[in-house]
Amino acid sequence: MSSPESQLRADIVEVGRRLWARGYVASNDGNISVRIGPDRLLMTPASVSKGFMTPDMMVITTLEGTLVSGPPGRKPSSEIQMHLAAYRNRPDVAAVVHAHPPTATGFAVAGLPLDRAVLAEVVTTLGSIPIAEYGTPSTLEMAAAVEPYVRAHDGLLLANHGALALGKDLFSAYYKMETIEHFARISFVARTLGREHLLSREEVARLQDLRGTYGIASPAPICPPDLAPMGPDEDPSCQVLYAPSSPDARLVPDTNVTAPAAPVGIGNFGEIRLTYDQLTALIDDAVRLLAESKR
Ligand SMILES: [Zn+2]
Repeated sequence: MSSPESQLRADIVEVGRRLWARGYVASNDGNISVRIGPDRLLMTPASVSKGFMTPDMMVITTLEGTLVSGPPGRKPSSEIQMHLAAYRNRPDVAAVVHAHPPTATGFAVAGLPLDRAVLAEVVTTLGSIPIAEYGTPSTLEMAAAVEPYVRAHDGLLLANHGALALGKDLFSAYYKMETIEHFARISFVARTLGREHLLSREEVARLQDLRGTYGIASPAPICPPDLAPMGPDEDPSCQVLYAPSSPDARLVPDTNVTAPAAPVGIGNFGEIRLTYDQLTALIDDAVRLLAESKR
């Protein structure tokens, strides 16, 4: 561990302040932990606003979650089991940040993983951001839900709850949380505008190679295209990322989203409402029938 404990305490306070200032947490939401030794974690205490912490508030636990030291009356974060699951499965991880950033959490509530190849920097740093199944917060169920996903991912959404980011140090975990929320916002805007161009699978392969060039450590490679989405009991050794193959173009119009055929609407006054396409189709039909009847 390079930074002394006093510095890490100050860094946790600073990361908590940023989570609060950016609106990633409300009330006493969220928690932050850092590995400070082979069997020691420094962690935010339960029931405090992350925006107004002080360095002396933090608690120290073992990797089994036993409280080692802390100020009187302070208990470890209620989500300690989820943090422990991350450290247990990832010896390379030295910090975990959990928050409820609104846009990313909105995707988690909608059941939409951020697993589409859209932004180069997200593909190189995080790869895909899947959704861990719902588990009751603060329970072992929550830890079991994230366990299969943390093995191959540094960032994940938690169904109907929030987001989790893992890093080799505290700020790298925090920046991943920022990237998750930023990516969610951009995805939201693009989908609101009605379309999403995707990076081709070939471009994703190029970006994967860049990971090595820039020394970006990723927990796992992108899965081959024909692999089915990962389930909790399946091989967690790669990341499922949706990127259509296109050897000739780096950007591909999204072919996965086909606009559903709009039903014929009935207006407030009983009038029939048609889309332009439906009206055109009706006129074409009428013209064709007319032409046939004249034969
Ligand atoms: Zn939470």
